Amino acid sequence: NTQVVLNERPKAGPITDTTFRSQTVDIPELKDGEVLVKVTYTSLDPTQRGWINDTRSYLPPVEIGAPMRSNGLGRVVVSKSDDFKAGDLVQGLINWQEYYVGPAQSLTKKQVPEGGKEIDFLGLFGMTGLTAYIGLFDIGQIKDGDHVVISGAAGAVGLTATQIALSFPKCKVTAIAGNPEKLEYLKKLGAHNVLNYKDEDFKKQFKNVGLIDVYFDNVGGAILDQALAQIAPYARIVACGAISAYNADKPTPIYNYFNVISMKATWKGFIVMDHAARFKDGITYLADLQKQGKLEYKYHVTEGLDTVVGTLQDMFAGKNVGKTVVKVAKD
Ligand code: NDP
Repeated sequence: NTQVVLNERPKAGPITDTTFRSQTVDIPELKDGEVLVKVTYTSLDPTQRGWINDTRSYLPPVEIGAPMRSNGLGRVVVSKSDDFKAGDLVQGLINWQEYYVGPAQSLTKKQVPEGGKEIDFLGLFGMTGLTAYIGLFDIGQIKDGDHVVISGAAGAVGLTATQIALSFPKCKVTAIAGNPEKLEYLKKLGAHNVLNYKDEDFKKQFKNVGLIDVYFDNVGGAILDQALAQIAPYARIVACGAISAYNADKPTPIYNYFNVISMKATWKGFIVMDHAARFKDGITYLADLQKQGKLEYKYHVTEGLDTVVGTLQDMFAGKNVGKTVVKVAKD
């Protein structure tokens, strides 16, 4: 069983070529209640950068020498559980490896609907699609007519959030991303304003889009600070992610915090996994939006377990559009 394990904790800054290493281990004997799963796809997520820091978070840090934690999909090969049989498609934290052995109860059985795709359980109907849904509706309290601004708009969460907001006939949508191709795509999807945060006059461009009712924050940092400068009264700030900080060696100062108070805004963080009770609604909503032709979805897929580290680095460099996934099993 080939695995990619945490070799050393990176200091502040990006992961390097020595952060992880590969190893091959024997597959252990299955205990009662356990399953052996052949991993098909593994999801790459910015939050994995935080999982390898030895800091307090919503999950404990990955141990040195342990396979890197990762959400993924796989097929049951052998089952010692009454709940699963060989061939079942399962999803869960099955890590960067070819085979997963563990308790069946830690996995969820999945069935691909007619005309559907397995990979959608990691993207459109998976954690990232649901993050956009819960972020905009439950946290952001989106309503028609809002000016919705989304950072990281061409990524997995952002692309979904942008299109949900665009499906409201009277919402104005401003999408922020990091290169001209992404902006062109977001424009094609219908975004009313598209902004490149790497442009020299980004601040001026951002100011020109006006006051913000919902700021869907995927990146934190200086973009968040400017968004705070522009929040409308009773704005909702969806604290979804802060990718600009994950590799940073020092925090970015926030100068416009007082606007949260003076504009009587709501600034709320959330972790999608805590909202499982809403997943069914979210999947129904997203599937319906897709059926109506209002939700286009993209995947950035690489092949082979040996691509995981490079692909994670590429994601931080903004090379992906949509959801980043590594296909682990060969057909
Ligand atoms: P993405 O698919 O959006 O990939 C990350 C993107 O972030 C890159 O493509 C890049 O795009 C952008 N980026 C990288 N560095 C920076 C930077 N310094 N400043 C601004 N943008 C940057 O990832 P996801 O959609 O999976 O995740 C988006 C955010 O949502 C992350 O912060 C993640 O942690 C968070 N998240 C939160 C969840 C929750 O439960 N709260 C659940 C899932 C995700 P570009 O070219 O535009 O720079």
